[in-house]
Amino acid sequence: MEFLNDAEPFRIKMVEPIKKTTREERENLIKEADFNVFKIKAENVFIDMITDSGTSAMSSKQWGGIMTGDESYAGSSSFYRLRDSVQDIMGFKYVQPTHQGRAADFIMSQIYGTKGGYILGNLHFDSFKGHSEIAGSIPIDLIIEEGRTANSNPFPFKGNMDIEKLNLFIEEKGKENIPLIIITVTSNGNGGQPVSMENIRSVSVIAKENNIPLMIDAARFAENCYFIKEREQGYENKSIKEISNEMFSYADGCVMSSKKDGLVNIGGFICTRHEELFPAINQLAIINEGFVTYGGMSGRDLEALAIGLHEGIDQEYLKYRIEQVKYLGEELFKRGVPIILPTGGHGVYVDAQKFYPQIPQSEFPGQALVVELYKTAGVRGVELGSCAFSKKDKETGATIYPDLELVRLTVSRRVYTHRHMDVVIKALENVYKRRDQMKGLKLTYEGPIISLRHFTAKFEPIA
Ligand SMILES: *Cc1c(COP(=O)(O)O)cnc(C)c1O
Repeated sequence: MEFLNDAEPFRIKMVEPIKKTTREERENLIKEADFNVFKIKAENVFIDMITDSGTSAMSSKQWGGIMTGDESYAGSSSFYRLRDSVQDIMGFKYVQPTHQGRAADFIMSQIYGTKGGYILGNLHFDSFKGHSEIAGSIPIDLIIEEGRTANSNPFPFKGNMDIEKLNLFIEEKGKENIPLIIITVTSNGNGGQPVSMENIRSVSVIAKENNIPLMIDAARFAENCYFIKEREQGYENKSIKEISNEMFSYADGCVMSSKKDGLVNIGGFICTRHEELFPAINQLAIINEGFVTYGGMSGRDLEALAIGLHEGIDQEYLKYRIEQVKYLGEELFKRGVPIILPTGGHGVYVDAQKFYPQIPQSEFPGQALVVELYKTAGVRGVELGSCAFSKKDKETGATIYPDLELVRLTVSRRVYTHRHMDVVIKALENVYKRRDQMKGLKLTYEGPIISLRHFTAKFEPIA
């Protein structure tokens, strides 16, 4: 058995060729794209690490399901198969499909959000933050201190919620002003860091004591369960399904972006265990998504998701998945590249400020690194730093830079081999060796909405 180790637990039945370009071609391409990788055509990317969302490879079984999906408007048998998968893996009785995770976020914000109410979480995801603000609620992040900075503190569950702060917050603001608590597993905002079962259990006890509902943002629930099995005492001999069922048993419901651990390219759902909430969820879905048994998804996509959820909790698949990310991180670390450790579930986060200490945040060190990595090897990462997260002071108009200046290298599920990871490792090692010569970028255009400027921004290199 040990000979098989963490080799890919699949063989490849269909291939999608990817194009090799030269450094000269890439220098022209990135210039034409105004030094913004969002504007590069995907066909000119060799290894795409811009996101893990909707980029998974489906299995032969899922492609088979695509052919047999039931496209009935009402009562599609593919919906019932999806519901069965969700009930089996997550234990929620009531399941409403949506076209993406953010549509489930919207429904959740409408069901639970109150004007002026505080919605507490470990680290809220952007799309929920936006929706809850529209509903008039105030999202509050209460992640533990260990999870707040880019560091190599070996703490195994950096996605945990700070229990002390949670208690204090409830005491201070009053439970009647807190309509909802949400735990995001794994915590996307700080690198796919897991949340422990013990932490989820403690939060649920506090939630119940105070009569506050608890929802789970489950986009990467399977990866979180794998970390619990690997790192938390008492779970080493449990199956991922048992761990998953226990994890969700502490919550009133969940929202899911199927584009991650659902192993499909589009879709989402919202679940609840409360019969009395389901009609309102159904009706919000009807006006925004479609009839309750399809919710903005085609029957074939419901079918592929019903299968993908089961494949996503497969122990061998998860081992390969998490080990691949860990391999990438550890090899980079060995070569001196500053990354957040331990690595999380879906990618490696490089500390671009440590990488390029000579470049101030006003000259976008993270973006400079993304550009140089693309030029070097056609690898496309994404900046999560001074371009994506800067704010303007409302009074003075001065730019407020984020604490973290990160570059995320996200690993798509079942898409790239370890050999591809070696390309990324060697390329980034090469970029790191040349780090002293690197200069920053000047922002020349940002677009109408500052908080979305990373998608449209234009840059010029500083000579
Ligand atoms: C991706 C994601 C969402 C939103 O899902 P979409 O399917 O992209 O709309 C919500 N929460 C988390 C934690 C996510 O990672």
